[in-house]
Amino acid sequence: MTSELLFRNDAYLRTARAQVVAIHERGIELDRTIFYPLGGGQPGDTGALLRENGERIAITDTRKGEPIDSVVHVPAPAAPRPGLGETLTLEIDWERRYTLMRLHTALHVMSCVVVAPVTGGNIAADKARLDFDIDLARLDAVQIERETNALIAAGAATETVWITDAELDTQPELVKTMSVQPPRGAGRVRLLRIPGIDLQPCGGTHVANVAEIEGIRVLKIRSEGRHNKRVEIALKCSG
Ligand SMILES: [Zn+2]
Repeated sequence: MTSELLFRNDAYLRTARAQVVAIHERGIELDRTIFYPLGGGQPGDTGALLRENGERIAITDTRKGEPIDSVVHVPAPAAPRPGLGETLTLEIDWERRYTLMRLHTALHVMSCVVVAPVTGGNIAADKARLDFDIDLARLDAVQIERETNALIAAGAATETVWITDAELDTQPELVKTMSVQPPRGAGRVRLLRIPGIDLQPCGGTHVANVAEIEGIRVLKIRSEGRHNKRVEIALKCSG
């Protein structure tokens, strides 16, 4: 069942009310959700669904379902199951999600500093990485950290822009990430724009202003293969 993806228009929603539209072996589907499902290198949200009787259904992961725009909330094994049509209060683990939003947006900023095709990427709760098709010798941790942090300190609002599949086809240079092609078939593609810094297809959740990242540290730079030179980062202050 298709779900209204509330996080797409407002990544800062920590709570919402929704109705159960399907329950199956993979989990629980709702008519609307603030839970981001695993995708584009960003992990699925965790949190809880609260029943009116006070019972708490712990959600340990969120995944995409079938069809496109359906979201499966994966309950903890021992959690109670809601009824079809039941109204629940949704709560995401906001601290974890906000850290993921800051790390995710930091990767967009870093992709402006390291000018090379992106061949991979991943975001975890404590660190994030991008792989670039570039000579290892051209990756300088001190420079990447300094230039990324300068852009973060200057601040810039992030914006969501939608374009049609056809418009994207005429601007293939928008797609920096070779390993993750933007989802097609829905007729339109969501872009993240950070004026002067980045513009590329992305369905993930971002902070409203890059200043919220506060700063990054480069943890590691290493080769993961001929076309994958990995830069791993963490937030400077993760509190
Ligand atoms: Zn993004």
